[in-house]
Amino acid sequence: MVITQIKARGIYHASTLDALNKVPRHKFVPESLMESAYSDSPLSIGYGQTISQPYIVAFMTKTIQPKKDFKVLEIGTGSGYQAAVLAHIVDSVYTIEIIEALFVQAKKRLDDLNYDNILVKNMDGYYGWEEKGPFDAIVVTAAAEFVPPPLIAQLKDGGKMIIPVGTPFTTQQLLLVEKKGNKIKTKNLMFVRFVPFTRAKDQ
Ligand code: SAH
Repeated sequence: MVITQIKARGIYHASTLDALNKVPRHKFVPESLMESAYSDSPLSIGYGQTISQPYIVAFMTKTIQPKKDFKVLEIGTGSGYQAAVLAHIVDSVYTIEIIEALFVQAKKRLDDLNYDNILVKNMDGYYGWEEKGPFDAIVVTAAAEFVPPPLIAQLKDGGKMIIPVGTPFTTQQLLLVEKKGNKIKTKNLMFVRFVPFTRAKDQ
């Protein structure tokens, strides 16, 4: 998977490749899809949600330029796969999932796999995780219509956020948001298709 899908598309970031080699992706998909776990696509994880395509996980991971001492916030735990990839690289990962059943599954899966530097919470991630912030980086894995202001507030000075922004159910722009002092710089990276960022009132 790493050679044919990730390196072949130009990602050579060593710690990202190493983390993707270490995380057992087949343990993050439903049993019925285990044989497709390493295929070049997103896969259904139930409740209308998906585990992202491996290339997208690699791209988002390397784009935040993760370092050993980083504290990272993820919005949209889903299967827990992206959080596990990050956990091999950084000091601590805080991840929020809005769907209770997925939160319960992901928490158990990450505990069973002994990821002791990941904390999972069941909430609407729009508000971030203020008590644990500010964060060196924030990774949002659901498509929002705009960048939630509480997430910008919880980004450290010099921090990076990667977030798909656009209309749900069409393609979105994957944005890199960088905070420098009180300036916010955003850059369009590519078109992507993510499941929608929902709000607590929609549940
Ligand atoms: N990162 C995941 C892929 C997640 S799919 C993985 O590696 O498997 C996007 C996830 O975001 C879904 O599980 C969805 O329920 C969740 N989500 C959507 N809106 C959210 C919100 N406001 N707060 C937290 N999670 C949200």
